[in-house]
Amino acid sequence: MTGCRYDIVVIGGGIHGVGITQAAAAAGYSVLLLEKSALAAGTSSKSSKLIHGGLRYLETYQFGLVAESLRERALLLKLAPGLVKLRPFIIPVYKKTRRAPWLVRLGLSLYAVLGRFREGASFHTIPSSDWQSLDGLRTDDLKAVFSYSDAQTDDRLLTRAVMNSALELGAQYEMPAEFVGAQLDEAGNIVRYRVDHTEKQCVAGILINTAGPWVNEVLARVTPAQVAPAISLVQGSHIVIGQQFKRGIYYVESPRDGRAVFVMPRQNDTLVGTTEIRFRGHPDTVTTFPRERSYLCSVVEYYFPALRGTIANSIIGAFAGLRVLPEGKGHAFHRPRETILRSDNETHPHILSVYGGKLTGYRATAEKVINHLRPFLPERSAIASTRELPLTPPRDDV
Ligand SMILES: Cc1cc2nc3c(=O)[nH]c(=O)nc-3n(C[C@H](O)[C@H](O)[C@H](O)COP(=O)(O)OP(=O)(O)OC[C@H]3O[C@@H](n4cnc5c(N)ncnc54)[C@H](O)[C@@H]3O)c2cc1C
Repeated sequence: MTGCRYDIVVIGGGIHGVGITQAAAAAGYSVLLLEKSALAAGTSSKSSKLIHGGLRYLETYQFGLVAESLRERALLLKLAPGLVKLRPFIIPVYKKTRRAPWLVRLGLSLYAVLGRFREGASFHTIPSSDWQSLDGLRTDDLKAVFSYSDAQTDDRLLTRAVMNSALELGAQYEMPAEFVGAQLDEAGNIVRYRVDHTEKQCVAGILINTAGPWVNEVLARVTPAQVAPAISLVQGSHIVIGQQFKRGIYYVESPRDGRAVFVMPRQNDTLVGTTEIRFRGHPDTVTTFPRERSYLCSVVEYYFPALRGTIANSIIGAFAGLRVLPEGKGHAFHRPRETILRSDNETHPHILSVYGGKLTGYRATAEKVINHLRPFLPERSAIASTRELPLTPPRDDV
């Protein structure tokens, strides 16, 4: 026996799941979201919490991704002013920094062009007379300091705000509700999920799999069996420290391996990240390792020598998240960060899975997913556009 029928059932309440639920409801579709634990329980509360174009992706020539992310940044600054705020970013360039001042200047100029010189696109150099005011930043061998803008958010609150918007448009959700299986069928896909210890069913016109690092686990629960693309899960950890930095977010190179590390002050603490290591376990078990904590401490202590020996003791929190990247050889940094959409059948999709992606681009991804699926869904009248729906910090708990 089956329960309700929905045009779309979304599996996973991270930023992609709620974004697609909001876009589906705005387009007039009936939509149900299933989340096995809590909204943003996965990667969407473990990110660096930046709404940014991704300056470093210019080095791997991902210009389309950077331009789209900057477009989305501008839109979120407008739609969610209580949740997404521009912050000054500071890039110090030393004698031994891998990227010379001319290269950083070139990157920032390109970033401004791709951002179409909108709000926050400009950058400048901080004169040496002002270096003493940079929170005790190391100044020996310092050649130049650049300042530009990007935006910061609270990823968990943003996810909840988008879900609230979806609910206002008529979307439904079940939580905690674990997707346990689906039988794909022309007449409607039968979806089974567990709430407490009871199994429930519903029928979905189309299933959307936004289970983040669990994406292939969810796909493996679908009948008939699906071919899952090969992916690697790459762990990125952050530490939260008690120190405050007043001038902005520092964007530095790890002296050990040259990787980019952000030192990101927030209201009452500072977030430092990330690391990048291959993860081989089950996504439920991801956790930070002591060597990641000491790596991040050493970066802060290198650039802020007055804090040497203090950072490990000032750690007040730590968390690890998992990036979903296409399987490939070589360093994770060189693999594409674009979101990949895969459906079971291009001419008659029953299930579409979302791989990878960025917090920043969630709305654009959701729009692409709905536009892609529109020809296969019943005709409905749109009731709103996600380009115009304001997002407010949530007060109630969804
Ligand atoms: C270390 C790190 C830093 C990052 N920093 C940034 C950044 O600063 N800016 C940026 O734009 N992007 C950033 N990203 C990328 C961004 O965080 C992710 O792309 C995004 O959060 C992924 O969201 P998602 O909805 O796809 O997955 P998730 O947030 O992981 O959501 C998947 C959800 O599915 C649920 N689920 C799993 N299985 C089931 C099931 N069987 N039934 C029901 N529910 C299920 C899980 O509980 C989870 O809530 C970062 C990523 C990492 C790893």
